[in-house]
Parts: sequence; C-alpha cells; structure tokens
Amino acid sequence: MGWHGFARMLTEVAGSLRDVLLPRGCAGCDMPDAVLCDDCRASGGGFTSFAMPGTVSGRAIACGAYRGPLRRAILRWKDHGDEECDGPFADMMADALLSSGLLASDPMPVTTLVPAPSSPRSMRERGRWHMRNVTNSLARSLRRRGMDVDTAALLRTTKTSGKSVQMHGAAQRSRRLQGHIVIAARPPYPRNVILVDDIVTTGTTARQCAQALNAAGIHVTTVICLARTLRTGENIDD
Ligand SMILES: [Zn+2]
Repeated sequence: MGWHGFARMLTEVAGSLRDVLLPRGCAGCDMPDAVLCDDCRASGGGFTSFAMPGTVSGRAIACGAYRGPLRRAILRWKDHGDEECDGPFADMMADALLSSGLLASDPMPVTTLVPAPSSPRSMRERGRWHMRNVTNSLARSLRRRGMDVDTAALLRTTKTSGKSVQMHGAAQRSRRLQGHIVIAARPPYPRNVILVDDIVTTGTTARQCAQALNAAGIHVTTVICLARTLRTGENIDD
C-alpha cells in the first residue's frame, strides 16, 4: 500500500469512528442530525444564472453564491471527504436546473450530464473524483423527477507539458484548441450535454470544458454549478 492509500485508509477509519462516536452535524452549521440543513442550502441566496459563452442557452446556473455556510459545506464536501453531501448537493442542482426554465423544451431532448474534470493529482489527494460522484447523484435526482438523463465522463485534464498522446479526429481538434482540457472518450458522443461543476469563479475552466465539447460536435445546453464566486461589490443578480 502506497502512502496515499495508507493516508486514505486512516481517513476512512477516522471517519467511521467519528460516525459511531458522534452523530453527524450539518456540513454548513453543525446543527445535529442533518447532512445539510435547509437554512444552509438557502444561504447562498438561491439559484442564479449568468452569462456562459459556448453554451446553447448562453447561460450557466449556480445554486447560490459561494459564501457563508454554503461555502463551508462545499469545502467540507470537496476537500475534507464529506461524501454524504453528494445527495443534498445533487438535489440543490436538480432544483436549480428545473427552476431555471432552461430545460423547458417539450419534449426535452435526451441529455447527458458531464462532470468537470479534476487533475489526476487532486483525485489522488481526495481519494475520489468528487464531480463524477455528485454528477451521478444529480442524474438519479433528475430521473426521480421524470427527466431522461444519463452521465458520461467525457472530459479529462492533460499535463500542459510532457509527451503528447496520439489522438484522432474530433479528440485531436479539441486538443489543439484546448491544451488543458480534452475529450477523454471515443465517439459516438451524445448530442446534448449539461456540464456539471462545483465552483465557478472566472468561468475560464467551464468555458474551456464547453469549447472542448463543442469542438467534438457536442452541444452544451448549460453549465450547472453549486456556487458562483462573486467579485467584491457584485450583486447576485448581476
Ligand atoms: Zn446548516
């Protein structure tokens, strides 16, 4: 067992002990017996949409602003292994997607959810691909609400330097356009996808993901994220 495996095992043992000794508290405010309480879910100010080039709708959707208890919960989920937040976060994203009206076409085209990629290093450090897990939960949440969705891990990051990998066709075009985020799978590709991300700050990563997908002929309906970082003085409705 390597160091990372050992560290992960220790984390898991510590997590199991904690679960036995202490009931869990809300990831945002520590209120007992909640994974993520309603107040913390609402603490980002509710869903909002903002401009996102490279998408069919031209908009991305966030469940709220990246602040307060929502920010704390996202950090605990993303960097401190609180995987139980996958379910509540998926439900929040499903609510935001349905409230946005961006998916209102009837019948809605079959949609594939695509998780934003993480670097191999961050996946090793976290012991999981947190975006893929929450994307799978989001698909289940949307299917429970009657939407026809599946998931596909179509994107991955590349090292910006190092040996180039032999690729063909759409994947190669997408690689030429975007050095850092590339298509990871072989065709056939889905026609319509929704990109799923955790925190959107400048939007650069989401735009690169959308461009890589577009270059492979894939339409990106919208980007759904958990939270959007607001710049100083910026209002959530901007
Ligand atoms: Zn709370």
